[in-house]
Amino acid sequence: MSSITTYCGRFAPSPTGALHFGSLVAAVACYLDARSNKGRWLVRMEDIDRTRERPGAATHILCTLESLGFEWDETVLYQSQRTEAYQAALEQLQQRRATYPCNCSRKEIAQQGQLGIEGVIYPGICRANPPSAHKRHATRVITHHQSIYFTDKIQGAIQQSIADEIGDFIIHRADGLFAYQLAVVVDDAYQGITDIVRGADLTLSTPRQIYLQSLLGHPTPLYAHLPLAVDNAGNKLSKQSQSLPIDRKTPLPALLAALRFLHQPLPSEQPATLDEFWAWAIKNWDIQQVPLQSTQQLTD
Ligand code: GLU
Repeated sequence: MSSITTYCGRFAPSPTGALHFGSLVAAVACYLDARSNKGRWLVRMEDIDRTRERPGAATHILCTLESLGFEWDETVLYQSQRTEAYQAALEQLQQRRATYPCNCSRKEIAQQGQLGIEGVIYPGICRANPPSAHKRHATRVITHHQSIYFTDKIQGAIQQSIADEIGDFIIHRADGLFAYQLAVVVDDAYQGITDIVRGADLTLSTPRQIYLQSLLGHPTPLYAHLPLAVDNAGNKLSKQSQSLPIDRKTPLPALLAALRFLHQPLPSEQPATLDEFWAWAIKNWDIQQVPLQSTQQLTD
């Protein structure tokens, strides 16, 4: 029996609005990378934060993907239905004494912490003096002054000391919601994801995810972070800003624009059908051509 793990990729949109060009780029890249490696490709709806969800957005995203010709394996996994798995992971980390309760306000943190690479570095107030676990609290994971390294398939070698650059981070919020960092790690492991291709806005999150994988005993997938599509002013396109929603009736121009954005070769003639487009794009996909900058302006 071969011991080679079969590639398994995923697209994990948050249903905060309609699919826009920025998320289409991520969907196209992770789909092409999976299919060109003869891998499986899954869709996971990251609807854990119900307060940010736009009603109908999840269905709208799935219908758009379908009308663009994406074909996913297995049924879609919804994070809103995975609370028990996140709770089990939280308990596992608590049993390892890798966590502590925290009831700091944003104001306290801002007053005592220094600015890091992603907001204020948590200054460890509750680590030194934890509040009673019976009071309303968030849960933070203890981090160490040790660099985490990984080699991104697009961005190259990345290194981060979480303790020095981010601080002990929240895995369970005071309002009862599980944090993205924990949920994504639990679900990537549960779904057997081997390769993650996603936007460069998550490059800085990856060391936290690798750290949680090591604490929970999960394998670390390979990562590739794509340049983010930004507007002329340099702002990230986001679902909330409703930027460039995809026209479901005429999908080919958007798909070709995504290939162009990813610096992939383009067919010499416009493909006649979606099937033709995908067959061509899968055959010609080359992740090495994707530009390594973290943002890229849309030219047209
Ligand atoms: N749900 C995240 C988003 O829509 C993506 C998370 C991930 O790919 O890890 O930006």
